[in-house]
Amino acid sequence: MSKDYYKILGVDKSASGDDIKKAFRKLAHEHHPDKKDGNADKFKEANEAYGVLSDENKRRQYDTYGSAFQNGAGAGGFNPNDFGGGFDFSGFQQGGFGGANVEFDLGDIFGDFFGGGGRRQQQRRGSDISVDVPISFEESIFGVERTIVLNKTSVCAECAGSGAKRGAKMKTCHTCNGKGKVSEVRRSIIGSFQTTRTCDTCHGSGKEPEEKCPICYGAGIQKRNQEIKVKIPSGLEDGEMIRLTGAGEAVSGGTSGDLYIKVHVKSHSIWHKDGHNLATDLSIKLSDALLGTNHTLKTLDGDIILKIPEGVAHGEILRIKGKGVPTTPRGKDGHRGDALITIHITMPRKLSKDARRAIEDLKKEGI
Ligand SMILES: [Zn+2]
Ligand SMILES: [Zn+2]
Repeated sequence: MSKDYYKILGVDKSASGDDIKKAFRKLAHEHHPDKKDGNADKFKEANEAYGVLSDENKRRQYDTYGSAFQNGAGAGGFNPNDFGGGFDFSGFQQGGFGGANVEFDLGDIFGDFFGGGGRRQQQRRGSDISVDVPISFEESIFGVERTIVLNKTSVCAECAGSGAKRGAKMKTCHTCNGKGKVSEVRRSIIGSFQTTRTCDTCHGSGKEPEEKCPICYGAGIQKRNQEIKVKIPSGLEDGEMIRLTGAGEAVSGGTSGDLYIKVHVKSHSIWHKDGHNLATDLSIKLSDALLGTNHTLKTLDGDIILKIPEGVAHGEILRIKGKGVPTTPRGKDGHRGDALITIHITMPRKLSKDARRAIEDLKKEGI
């Protein structure tokens, strides 16, 4: 049941590459579906035949096995430049002759046409933007508000995206005559396809302003510096992201993308997070450990006098209640973890004579 490609193109089995090309071009012009008396089926058939006979290898296979062989691979050596290229086959020659054919699966071609048409009907969406924002450790604990300036495509400040001059009346869109959609025929080497897409002029509303916005010339968007206030909540970890929906790039007639704020938390010289607690190590002298002392400690809430009790042990953890990480987003006092201070006792490396004597006295006391 194999098709006779030679018969379809009207050439005989000994036809040269040139003859095949000429025959195909003649048929393609004759049957092109864009023409009044065009014939899509015949056009496709001619394409299929040409795709095989113009390729030396495929032609040889076809001569041996018939047209059944092409069920697997693509039927033709099409040049992707041809698609949408109008009624001009000059591009086709690049792919069609010389043996260096660009091959791809027919499934891809159809997917491109039909899928592509379908995608175009979805609402347009601007690109997402990602911004890195460094914050201090304190800011990560308590939260902070930042103003960032982005040079991006934004909704036009003058017309708020309508594209209309202030007070302008609306009229029926001249591109789509109020339908909101336009149909177009996409030509290709394997036939023509009608696709319908949203009108670019009115973005589907069917109306356009009588006078356009003087700032964006009707686009509804403009590239400009925009200040964006970002509330960075308390408790974010280094590398965490905040998404601001709709704060990305704007797009004409569609929804804006999102803005992602990636937070970089600088580490603190003293404190680190331990769940909802803040933790640090504190080295004290042996005598302070034995006798007790008051130590001025820098905390995120300012300086605090830490009372180190006499006889504190190495590794003992002292706790300052309520000076840790806020456990509620608002971060009100009373809803915070604690500050935990781990005591390290620094042992003297070498004792002076007096010190040795004193320690020996301690020893006698059983200490
Ligand atoms: Zn505008
Ligand atoms: Zn329109």
